[in-house]
Amino acid sequence: MLYYSTNRQSPAVSLREAVMRGLAEDGGLYMPESVPVLPPSFFKSIDKLTHDEIALEVARAFLGDDVPEGVLAGIINESLDFMIPLKRFGANVYCLELFHGPTMAFKDVGARFMSRLMSYLYRNENRALNVLVATSGDTGSAVAAGFHGVEGINVFVLFPGGKVSPLQQKQITTWGGNIYALEVDGSFDDCQKLTKQMLGDRQLSDSFPLTSANSINIARLIPQSFYYFFAFARLDAGGVDEARLPLVFSVPCGNFGNLTGGLMARAAGLPVLRFVASTNINDVFSRFMETGEYKPAASIATISNAMDVGDPSNFARINELMGKKIENFRESITAYSYSDDDTSAAIGKLHAANGYIMDPHGAVAYLGLRQFMSEYHEAVNGIFLETAHPAKFPETMQQIIDDFDDLPPQLQEVLNRKEKFHSIGNDPEELKAFIEEVNL
Ligand SMILES: *Cc1c(COP(=O)(O)O)cnc(C)c1O
Repeated sequence: MLYYSTNRQSPAVSLREAVMRGLAEDGGLYMPESVPVLPPSFFKSIDKLTHDEIALEVARAFLGDDVPEGVLAGIINESLDFMIPLKRFGANVYCLELFHGPTMAFKDVGARFMSRLMSYLYRNENRALNVLVATSGDTGSAVAAGFHGVEGINVFVLFPGGKVSPLQQKQITTWGGNIYALEVDGSFDDCQKLTKQMLGDRQLSDSFPLTSANSINIARLIPQSFYYFFAFARLDAGGVDEARLPLVFSVPCGNFGNLTGGLMARAAGLPVLRFVASTNINDVFSRFMETGEYKPAASIATISNAMDVGDPSNFARINELMGKKIENFRESITAYSYSDDDTSAAIGKLHAANGYIMDPHGAVAYLGLRQFMSEYHEAVNGIFLETAHPAKFPETMQQIIDDFDDLPPQLQEVLNRKEKFHSIGNDPEELKAFIEEVNL
């Protein structure tokens, strides 16, 4: 399989190159040249397959012959070593829990798969690969956890000093080994700028292999299509052969990578009637759906902070999948946006009704699903994606649910570990010197 750049000014490249570059030279994002369609026999028996078996079938279709089947099976087995349950909430409403990985956010799926795939693609090199990632919280922890202990790879996680929550900071700084946590005297944007400067530094990239692990990397995107198939396989609406209600997924969106995974699943044959793109008040996408005009905006802080994005980086990919036609967008996707008050109220209400506690991101998706189901003219099976465990946001949750004090073992364990990080100024030379020292 070759991967082309959405800007079409750079040549199509192999999987290895697409993964190692992250971003194409022309600034575009890599997309598979063709999306394979999975055979009807796969969907017929999908409810009898394990998650690993389903993922292997999908991964083989997207990665073609670039990775031998046995290797791919191993990567999948290690990446998905946690459960992804589908829970039923009464009439035709389901929740797909994506937060049972080591950092308790759905980003674990992509980060774990990417780390192992990179390690395989890089296996014949004798120098270490240096992976840079800038984070405002969740991404850095998932990437650090995903790469920890992966041989031949050094990871540099840049986080803005004093601007990530204490729990998030622990999740970034307590790994040791091949994970180097760097506290930058600056903002998230400064961290991002520094990583870009390193990637653009010829002298550095000539001396040491260097790449980035942010969400634009195709290796993080492909595994994000797997769990849409899992959900379909586990719907207890009778066998796949029988007539079942049309399927709708509501996805809590920020950079729209998760939704892109769903759209790729549908392009590969998964029968989905509609996707609901649910956002907080950072509503660039809903406005685009209304007007047909894409206008990036500065991001606004909300309680679903992993979705505070004013210029979603995967828009270019969705635009490709939709053939750049607004009619196609409107046929495939419905977009809604919600305020923090709406979100808090939904969390409180569902908790009172059935005891289930949603996190602020999943709650936005729940609101979107509910709205779609009440407005649509026929009955559907609705699934909303729950992307983080509520215990990741204790301050917010305690304001909504009085006696909230959940602390799962994964998070408890992190709190007990010792932090280790280096502080650097907002200065490319300092960062460069640090990377060079690690590579000595
Ligand atoms: C990153 C994140 C999102 C947004 O996902 P995108 O792929 O960026 O749209 C939603 N919820 C949580 C908890 C996240 O960490």
